[in-house]
Amino acid sequence: MELIVLGCSGSGAGPHSAASGYLVRSADTALVMDLGNGTFGALQRHLDPFELDAVVLSHLHPDHCADVSGLIVHRRYHPQGPGSVLPLHGPSESEVRLAVAYAPSSDERVATDLSDVFDYHRFGDGPSSVGEIELSSLPVDHPCEAYAVRLEQGGRSLVYSGDTGPCDTLVELATDADVLLCEATWTDEPDRPPGVHLSGRQAGEVARKAGAKRLLITHVPAWYDGEVLLAEAREVFEGPSELVHPDGRYEI
Ligand SMILES: [Zn+2]
Ligand SMILES: [Zn+2]
Repeated sequence: MELIVLGCSGSGAGPHSAASGYLVRSADTALVMDLGNGTFGALQRHLDPFELDAVVLSHLHPDHCADVSGLIVHRRYHPQGPGSVLPLHGPSESEVRLAVAYAPSSDERVATDLSDVFDYHRFGDGPSSVGEIELSSLPVDHPCEAYAVRLEQGGRSLVYSGDTGPCDTLVELATDADVLLCEATWTDEPDRPPGVHLSGRQAGEVARKAGAKRLLITHVPAWYDGEVLLAEAREVFEGPSELVHPDGRYEI
């Protein structure tokens, strides 16, 4: 598999990056994992949106799903369209959340329920697959229903934390992962909230406890220096680690 970063700015777009979004490709499968604000434009630099095989949403905060509306418009109204119905894997309220984000009035939502665009699959229903990529997930610690996601193909594995505070389920899902793409949203200062997100140090601890072979740090907000969070992670995780960057490509 190949991971291509569409955006990696934590909690919203920043001056140098869109919010969270990742394109994952194998030889004959392409999926987008989160589609936060600004990422749909970036996606079009790397892939014709009609070539997507699925959308995977870790959770439904806007910095992870705001640009789904742009994808809907593209697949419905582009001259090449309409596209085929696209599998969308996500939390249980994806259908309602995306409909409200797309259509501002109840009348419009009655007329356009998005069933022509998406076929919804709930993470809670268990493991699934997209083409040749196996997909599994576990719930994580965030103020809304949120999941970490594990993708496997050809004996290789990529685990994405989504947004989460420290939790055993993330370590469990990331066990022995070839690559852990993990959020780090704040520094390890004592006055931060106990859950919700990870510090750089906690991201490193997740990678160490899980035995992940490589750590990619993402979701650093515009107001933090990512190098500080990376240095925290490196204090506790000895394997290879780096900050991801927009349009970065990573072989899994
Ligand atoms: Zn976020
Ligand atoms: Zn979030």
